[in-house]
Amino acid sequence: MIKKEMEKSSKEMVEEIKTDFRASADLGIKRCMQCGLCTSNCPAARHSDYDPREIVKKVLDNNWEILDSPDLWNCFYCYTCQCNCPVNNSPCQINQILRQKILLKNENKHRMCEFSSYGYSYLDFGVGAMPKSFFDGMVKDYGKKYLDLKVNLEDIRQDLDLDDYNLKGKSLKEVQDILQESGFKKRLKTFKEQ
Ligand code: SF4
Ligand code: SF4
Repeated sequence: MIKKEMEKSSKEMVEEIKTDFRASADLGIKRCMQCGLCTSNCPAARHSDYDPREIVKKVLDNNWEILDSPDLWNCFYCYTCQCNCPVNNSPCQINQILRQKILLKNENKHRMCEFSSYGYSYLDFGVGAMPKSFFDGMVKDYGKKYLDLKVNLEDIRQDLDLDDYNLKGKSLKEVQDILQESGFKKRLKTFKEQ
């Protein structure tokens, strides 16, 4: 079997990703064979210039310029790429690690602002809710069916004998304590102040 060793310089970025605490222990980044299956199934790639295969390639090439790419922010973490990758790689996880590197450098914080209402929803209700700013887009994409669902959600849940999905009481307090102690709440505030 022919084995191609990675250049020494190309190891640095791969190792940083592999050893990040957000990375799965079996993340198959070194096994990526650039088959493109992730890109062919990625909804963000379908609607923008974002390309998960290309992101992985840049990491393998130790190309730190990837951190300057505005396309990096188009992934919305649906994990389709990870589910389809034949070598258990995850462009989704890689993207999360790269974005955190950018945010920790205090750059591009404004990109998180429109998502911050997800965070406030966790604080208020213990569950994530879609930001209001995305609502018009959903109605445009899915039409009346989506609008009807949103307007009648409470009644539909009652008909299905389902409880309110918002957390309450002790459960809600536990989530809020975790968000406070982990620094999540404080960080959310810094995004709001951008
Ligand atoms: S990450 Fe997986 S699916 Fe994407 S190009 Fe590499 S091997 Fe293929
Ligand atoms: S998680 Fe991101 S990269 Fe993966 S398929 Fe979804 S949008 Fe694309």
